[in-house]
Parts: sequence; C-alpha cells; structure tokens
Amino acid sequence: VIDIVIDFGGTNIKIGLISDGNILSQTRLPAYSENGILPRLPKVVEAITELLQTNAYMPDQCSGIGIALPGLVDPEAKTLLSINEKYADAVGFEFDRWAQDVFHLPIVIENDARAALIGEISYGSARGETDAVLIIFGTGIGTAAIMNGRVLRGKHQQAGVLGGHFSTDVHGETCNCGNLGCLEAQASHRMLSNKVKHDPLYPKSMLRDSESIGYQTIIDSYESDDPLSSRLLEDMLVHWSAGIVNLIHAYDPETVILSGGLMKSAHIILPLLEERVLRSAWTPWGKVRFILAKEPDASVLLGMSSLLQSARKQGGIHIEFI
Ligand SMILES: [Zn+2]
Repeated sequence: VIDIVIDFGGTNIKIGLISDGNILSQTRLPAYSENGILPRLPKVVEAITELLQTNAYMPDQCSGIGIALPGLVDPEAKTLLSINEKYADAVGFEFDRWAQDVFHLPIVIENDARAALIGEISYGSARGETDAVLIIFGTGIGTAAIMNGRVLRGKHQQAGVLGGHFSTDVHGETCNCGNLGCLEAQASHRMLSNKVKHDPLYPKSMLRDSESIGYQTIIDSYESDDPLSSRLLEDMLVHWSAGIVNLIHAYDPETVILSGGLMKSAHIILPLLEERVLRSAWTPWGKVRFILAKEPDASVLLGMSSLLQSARKQGGIHIEFI
C-alpha cells in the first residue's frame, strides 16, 4: 500500500509517496504561502499525478492522502482551525472533499510539527521513545510533545504545538500571533532578514552580498568569521535554548528531538545548543538526551504516512493521543 503525503511548509510544499516507512519518491514545489493555499492546489494535484505516473503507480494502489499544515488542526473534523499569516484561506477548507473529488481517496490531517514527532518516533531516529519533545526549525519554529506514550493534542488541539510561541523575551518583538517576544518572532528563519537589515553592523557585514538571508546564510558567514553573523547566531542560540528549556520544564521529556532544515548544520549548532540547555534545565532525574532527525526534510512526511497507517489499523503502528 502506498501513502500519498503532503507537507505544506511556509517556503516549500513537499510531496512524497511512502510505503511502510520507506520514501519511494518525492518532489517539492515553491509554496508562495503568503498568497494562500487554494491557488497552489491545482499544482499539487499535477505534482502528485506526475509522481504516480513516473513511478508507474495507480491512484487505487494508494491508501489515502496525509496532509500536514503549519497551524492548529482538528484531525476529527479534518479542518484547519487557525493559522498565523501563511495559507490564510486554508482555515475551514474542506480538504476531505477536495481529496475525494480529485483522487477518490480519504485523508488524515495533522499539525506539521506533531506529524514530525510522530514520524521520528515511528520510523526515524527516535523510534519507540515514549517521553519526548520535538522542535523543528523550518520557515517558522514548530514543536510537539509525547508523554507516557501518548502524543499531546489537548482539548483544543493546541497542546504541545505552540512552543514557537513561548515567549523568550518579554521585551521583544510583537509576534504575528499577538504575544510579545515569541521564540518564532525572535529567532526564526522567517524573521531573520528583517532583523539583519536594521542592524548597524549590516553595511559592513558579508551578509550584504547575500540575496536572501536565512539560517544557512548566517551559518555560512559565521564560519567565515563575520562579526554580525557571530552575534546573530549567539543571540539565536539564547532564544532556541530558552525555548527548549521551556519545553523540558513543561512536558517532562527524556529526549529532545531536533529536526528541520537548520539541522543540516547540526555539527555547529548541536554542541552549542546542548551545552546551554543542559546548563539551564531543571531535571533532577538525570540528563535529557538530544536526538537528531535522520532526514530532517522527511520527518513530517513520514509522520503523515504513520498516521495513515494508524488510521487503517493495519500493520504495527498505532498512535495514541491525549
Ligand atoms: Zn507568537
């Protein structure tokens, strides 16, 4: 059985075909998420059709479509409840009907970071972990938590997934969500270019030569000893580690799973982050372990496949929620 999975990210839409935890084929499209989701759906259908054809699969070999979205999702009603700026028109959209109309397939739908956590505990490098938090550094910053073997959803579907909106500086930037100094407003990929261009060091920084500024450009120029990039990275580490300590204090995990594009630079980030977090976290029972996603780009896709498998109630995977 083949699962079709879609990860609607802020920058890219990733699409994959997965069978039993193996990615058979994948592709990606630019998201243009500020323009909404509806204008992109025809392209998504095209990409899925092409992916199936290229690999000589028929839609009737597929079990369903797994849809991951960067907002608050109601998995029972199969709708998006709320989202921060991007894909604004996806709120209330009937994804179920869309998938039925176009592919005659059922769907499962989940918050993207929660899907990433499920992907890592089902098929990834955190397989079998029962008490963990995940933080995924993409365009924004997503989080999720599992306690006593149950993935947190909560009464209003928002438990565990708002770690990007933990305040890490009460005197900080006003976030799009309305709160002050959210982790995502202080230290996300999305917010970097704005922050950088207002910095007095910017005119003399190597970053002036970069067309677009994000995590990767900062890390590259940090490695070339650019003073502004060093300061920015140091500053982001303060916020990232504060966010992770908050997650540890809130959800009592034994492991912290790190995923997302930033983890391609884990050799630089991880030692610095781990040192800061372990210094600050209150965990008298022992030390929290850090785990890196094996394929940071695939955590969300694997999670959606795992959820489809769990929904089919076949095979070994069954995900429990609270
Ligand atoms: Zn916020």
